[in-house]
Amino acid sequence: MSENKKLFIQTLGCQMNDTDSVHIQAELEKHKGYTATDKLEDADLIIINTCSVREKPVSKLFSEIGQFNKKKKEGAKIGVCGCTASHLGKDIIKRAPYVDFVVGARNISKIKDVVDVKGAVEISIDNDESMYEFASANTNRYRVGVNISVGCDKKCTYCIVPSTRGEEISIPPEMIVNEVQKAVNNGAVEVMLLGQNVNSYGRRFSDGREKYTFTRLLQDVSKVEGLKRIRFTSPHPLHMDDEFIEEFAKNEKISKCIHMPLQSGSTEVLKSMKRGYTKEWFLNRAAKMRQLVPNLRITTDIIVAFPGETHEDFLDTLDVVNQVKFDQIFNFKYSPRPGTEALNMADKEIPDEIGSARLTELIELHKRYLEESMPPLIGSTVNVLIESLKPNGEVTGYTDNYLQVFAKGSDEYLGKFVDVKVTDVTRTALKGEIIS
Ligand code: SF4
Repeated sequence: MSENKKLFIQTLGCQMNDTDSVHIQAELEKHKGYTATDKLEDADLIIINTCSVREKPVSKLFSEIGQFNKKKKEGAKIGVCGCTASHLGKDIIKRAPYVDFVVGARNISKIKDVVDVKGAVEISIDNDESMYEFASANTNRYRVGVNISVGCDKKCTYCIVPSTRGEEISIPPEMIVNEVQKAVNNGAVEVMLLGQNVNSYGRRFSDGREKYTFTRLLQDVSKVEGLKRIRFTSPHPLHMDDEFIEEFAKNEKISKCIHMPLQSGSTEVLKSMKRGYTKEWFLNRAAKMRQLVPNLRITTDIIVAFPGETHEDFLDTLDVVNQVKFDQIFNFKYSPRPGTEALNMADKEIPDEIGSARLTELIELHKRYLEESMPPLIGSTVNVLIESLKPNGEVTGYTDNYLQVFAKGSDEYLGKFVDVKVTDVTRTALKGEIIS
């Protein structure tokens, strides 16, 4: 194994890609002797871990790889990984012959086998990634991300994931608990369990073992001594059964912030998105969560102007926003993605100006809500896990219901839970004084 080889990784997209990049790095360090660098010009190997959901159109991706090729040092290799790699496969090398290898999102653990094979393309959608030792991704010293499943069995019509990450397979619970324990032994106090659809966990394992449930996994993980907080993303509203909601409410280690991706408030649009639930189901689940969990924060994703969305459909979305009172909304105006079923709905596409107007209306509605809901927090006391110190002498961290807090402090508070008296608010964060 040669020494001192440097690896530069550019990661685009979601948290799954962040953990995949950590996994790539761990495999290449362990098996191929690479060490990470943040300087592209120093790297012997440059990897771009792509996303087809949120990132740039394919043409921009190629222009970026072209830039990497110009800037790289002589002899350095370039690899393309992730969802766009799964989607385009060998066409990437045809179009950019200076790319050395391509590894799909479902084949990350094969990286060590292909890194030295010029022209290698590994994009099999059936690859069993669930039994490998997954590296856990430290997003900071106190928080770790751990994958609990790969792939997704849903077929949401706007989403590329099923065709890039393949069918859903769960990672065995004992591997997950082990990974969390290792992270806690290394100083983590919070875990983020990651999957495309976390609460359908346990339906299929590659070793054919009996079914399990996400609720049981939460119970297992919460037994890890020294672990203080459990978060997870993304759950699917369809799988929020009573058992899950009750566990969420009573398990003190589970952070009381939940992501409930609505996508649309119209049952008709949800049907055409193939989301599997109705407006009424979503409202019912959100109401039950609010009823059982005081101080709950609910975040969501909403797509406006999905093909065929009428004005009445959009009003249904506003109605759900008004009823559920989301604490954070990730809003998107629909745009067609290659490889998705919704691409065939071009005849029902909504004119861009209507889509933009709906997006603005939604953003404004939510802004007004936050301007009303945040100020009453002034004067209250919140418990915060302090995670970092900023150069201006402020420390920052998150409450149990995952609201960011800033306060004057020092490095003595890092990694500790402190009480903060709130003195000011913005629409998305709190400011205060540490009182104990
Ligand atoms: S649940 Fe739907 S949106 Fe989420 S990853 Fe699966 S197919 Fe995509």
